[in-house]
Amino acid sequence: MSQKEFALYIEDLTVSFDGFKAIDSLNLYIDKDELRVIIGPNGAGKTTLLDLICGKTRASAGSIRFKDEELTKKPEHEIVRSGVGRKFQTPSIYENLSVFQNLEVSFPKGRSVFGALSFERTEEVLERVRKVAEEIGLADKLETEAGLLSHGQKQWLEIGMLLMQEPELLMLDEPIAGMSARERELTADLLKRICRNRSMIVIEHDMDFVKQIASKVTVMHQGKILAEGPMDVVQADPKVIDVYLGH
Ligand code: ADP
Repeated sequence: MSQKEFALYIEDLTVSFDGFKAIDSLNLYIDKDELRVIIGPNGAGKTTLLDLICGKTRASAGSIRFKDEELTKKPEHEIVRSGVGRKFQTPSIYENLSVFQNLEVSFPKGRSVFGALSFERTEEVLERVRKVAEEIGLADKLETEAGLLSHGQKQWLEIGMLLMQEPELLMLDEPIAGMSARERELTADLLKRICRNRSMIVIEHDMDFVKQIASKVTVMHQGKILAEGPMDVVQADPKVIDVYLGH
């Protein structure tokens, strides 16, 4: 059998909190330009898995390799530098800055070595701001103060701030929480657009949304993978119906 090249290899990953295994010998492989959705009941370990990948939580055992680099021992900022971006549920944008400025300060070189914000507008930065603003559908809102954006637009802006760093693995935790139906549709289009040249992991509970965006779904339960495959196959799996979809 030929060996497939994956961007992310997770093998035998385990993390225990006071003897409780929140992630239990988990194996997960994600392709270079794949958008993988992770579903599963509350407490399944989905958020903990993302915490482990981005270095927020340290593994008790196992390996996380991304583009042939071992991530489990790296500090969070080095994992970001390796091309991993993570968005949490609550947007963390600069409400008093414009959309343009929020994107501009997220450019990796937009910070000086001392951490102060620098506003040097090189052509490279401007070009990337324009490209990202198009991608997130906010090209006509560049001068708008971020605090005045709708909830959905704030979420897109935060995705844009991550895109400014050109991550090769982008992880999103419930990206459509609190969005209107129209915003959910636009977010599905946005995610399909931006996953073309990167790997993505999305945690989501809204099954209609999952069907729109995912070619492959991973179902987690009790820190392990319960099922994996196309949504229609996973949806018909009696184990998945029993622990998650049937509720
Ligand atoms: P999910 O995102 O699927 O709802 P979580 O990853 O948040 O699940 O949690 C998985 C389990 O691990 C839960 O039982 C949770 O209480 C536990 N857990 C997560 N983080 C910690 C922690 N820092 N300390 C103790 N237990 C934790």
